[in-house]
Amino acid sequence: MAIADILHELEHHPRPCDKEGLKKSIRDALIHQAGKDPLEATPRDWLEAVSYAIRERLIERRMFTQRLFNREHVKRVYYLSMEYLIGRMLINSLLNLGFYEACREALSEMGVDLLGIAELEPDAALGNGGLGRLAACILDSMASQCMPGYGYGIRYEYGMFQQQIENGQQIEHPDNWLRYGNNWEFPRPEKIYRVRFYGRVVTHRDNGNLRHHWQDCEEVIAMAYDHPTPGYGNKNVNNLRLWAAKSTRDFDLNYFNEGDYIGAIQKKAESETISMVLYPNDATAIGRELRLKQEYFFVSASIQDVLDHHEEMGYRITELPDKVALQLNDTHPAIAVAELMRLLLDKYQLPWMSAWEITKAVFGYTNHTLLPEALETWPVEVMERVLPRHMQIIYDINFHFLNEVRHTFPGDTEVIKRLSIIDEEHGRQVRMAHLAVVGSHKINGVAALHTKLLESTLFHDFYRLWPERFVSITNGITPRLWLHQANPALCALISEHIGRDWVMDLSQLRALESFADDPKCREEFRAVKEANKRRLADLVLERTGIRIDPNAMFDVQVKRIHEYKRQLLNILHVIAFYNRIRRGEAGDQTKRVVLFGGKAAPSYVRAKQVIRLINDVADLINHDPMVNDRLKVVFFPNYDVSAATVIIPAADLSEQISTAGMEASGTGNMKLALNGALTIGTLDGANVEIRDAVGEENMFIFGLTAEEVAETRARGYRPRECYQENAELKEVLNMIGSGFFTPDDPARYGDLVDDLLNNDAFLVLADFAAYVQAQEQVDALYTDREDWTRRAMLNTARMGYFSIDRTVQQYAEEVWGVVPECWI
Ligand SMILES: *Cc1c(COP(=O)(O)O)cnc(C)c1O
Repeated sequence: MAIADILHELEHHPRPCDKEGLKKSIRDALIHQAGKDPLEATPRDWLEAVSYAIRERLIERRMFTQRLFNREHVKRVYYLSMEYLIGRMLINSLLNLGFYEACREALSEMGVDLLGIAELEPDAALGNGGLGRLAACILDSMASQCMPGYGYGIRYEYGMFQQQIENGQQIEHPDNWLRYGNNWEFPRPEKIYRVRFYGRVVTHRDNGNLRHHWQDCEEVIAMAYDHPTPGYGNKNVNNLRLWAAKSTRDFDLNYFNEGDYIGAIQKKAESETISMVLYPNDATAIGRELRLKQEYFFVSASIQDVLDHHEEMGYRITELPDKVALQLNDTHPAIAVAELMRLLLDKYQLPWMSAWEITKAVFGYTNHTLLPEALETWPVEVMERVLPRHMQIIYDINFHFLNEVRHTFPGDTEVIKRLSIIDEEHGRQVRMAHLAVVGSHKINGVAALHTKLLESTLFHDFYRLWPERFVSITNGITPRLWLHQANPALCALISEHIGRDWVMDLSQLRALESFADDPKCREEFRAVKEANKRRLADLVLERTGIRIDPNAMFDVQVKRIHEYKRQLLNILHVIAFYNRIRRGEAGDQTKRVVLFGGKAAPSYVRAKQVIRLINDVADLINHDPMVNDRLKVVFFPNYDVSAATVIIPAADLSEQISTAGMEASGTGNMKLALNGALTIGTLDGANVEIRDAVGEENMFIFGLTAEEVAETRARGYRPRECYQENAELKEVLNMIGSGFFTPDDPARYGDLVDDLLNNDAFLVLADFAAYVQAQEQVDALYTDREDWTRRAMLNTARMGYFSIDRTVQQYAEEVWGVVPECWI
């Protein structure tokens, strides 16, 4: 068959997507791919078979999408991210492709339960928290909106660790997510690039031009694995390309011929460690050499791949900004600025100025945090040793940049020190955020308040220099996962009233506002919430052995455990509430379940201590007969995307209580409000915009503002005064500090309480009274179920702005300059 015939066949007879067609594919895959006799097939074999069947259909559409983009010569955006927190693929793919029902029926006729086997799929947890989940939401949105958008990242052998709770403490287990293989990906053994490390730079003169050669390097091969990502309700399928490290020793027989066979294999294993494991740190920079190598490894492979494609398309290198946008998801891939410069200078031999103009025109940089401990810096010594040519280029970038600064601020030597890419005051460090800002034409914060703080604090000098580079693009979440998939009962209710188009145009939810005043609709909405709560109660019982009452208020704080997120404030209130119950002062009959979930970085001692405290408190309260179900405390182990899809639709109250000014955006806040939880929160991150959208009367805002936090700190904050002035707080801290919850180890939390009284860097005590007061309002409102439900419905109705589709449209227009291209 000639190529033309194959193409014709593919175009006119793609894999059928009806029930019978799927059934045949699944059966074929079970026998011929999985190699299983249908008589003996286990649920996992069926999962494998169905994934193969779906993957066949994904790849066909992927090919058409790719050909369309090539034919139309579109500009493409490449999203560079160290993390993708994806979760499971099966149900999401089926819903996006539109053959969920057909597949469910096909399986059912073969005696297999779709939802049952879907539970067996491991989460693709190639990320820590919000930053990685944002990347996954952006991929979904780019495909759903027909954007020519590509993800690049690392195919970690081990993703985010699995959290177990033993004796109240977090235990980490490796996440061997590839144990049973990965039936969604396409390995591309022919898509390989050499990535170099170490060595030295040799310079020579060629016709008066300086030429640089990077020599005597160690080399690693980056091999591509492609993950087709389907859009919702269209036929476009985009691609996420993840790189795995392979040793060059496979390709270099000499090493084996030297006679040291075992040594050669050992070297091979060493170079393959680059893509072995995700660093489990959220909002903290890790100064380890392997981390720098991971960053450069995936950046170098990705940029080589981008430039290869650019050449294959027949474009000139100077046309790069017309065809390519590169987005840096935080500073983790910021070395890309130097890598692109290196290729433009050393490979394409462009003059400095044109290389630099091209580089600036293609890069955009998203900042995710103001926390000092999260700002990446690399010792010059390390950078020079690992990436010697890049260090030279960074020096040159800095030289030109500082000349521009001198021109703008003549005579100001302090501003030079503050702006320099090299920090000279802390033992010569490369400031990756500065490299990212200098090398990008657009820099964005992830919420309005965050961008404002970037402009006024962290990047203030840059903002004075280039105000036009700064834009604010508030994060969003994909409605496909966080409503359509996670909350089918609510979706059915919504669609019954306003049709189905909201999935791709979330602002349409506003039409639900009027239903909030209809008692019958409120009844239906409440019934959905109660069903979701029963589903969660079953899961909590299964995972923790704790029985919770679906009629209680579900008060939920799920997110990474971090001091600035203030799980401590929450548990202090839990104890205060417990004391009121014991004294008979708790007033009304509101029952509460306070549910926590989240992982602590394995080396973050204080965060792990907070997990233990929550469990110690839970243990005592849950077994106190005086409490008698008025209050239950649950720590839900191993919070991940799959857990989130069950917990979030069941929440009544969403805890978003970070110290104001410290949470860049938050996206958990959006998922919960969209699913009809009322927020108790500080004016931080996107909470501010959520308040503007849903109305202050439909939330519980409390505590110091970002400005007041700064003033309090500047005045000299004395937490002990809060303790002295507030009898309830005093009692709570005395209980923790004296071992009330840990009689067998009374000193366990002595240092924690001391720290709160003497430092309290996150102003927990300063906000305690306001928080308790806000919680009283929560209790009061919850006794009026009609009013509560009305406000919950208004939350859902008014959250349309926080769709990731709006976020991606803003990036496309304000940063990337790409436009949608759909095939029908
Ligand atoms: C959304 C999400 C996060 C981010 O939650 P925040 O409350 O914004 O910190 C973290 N982990 C998982 C699994 C998520 O789905």
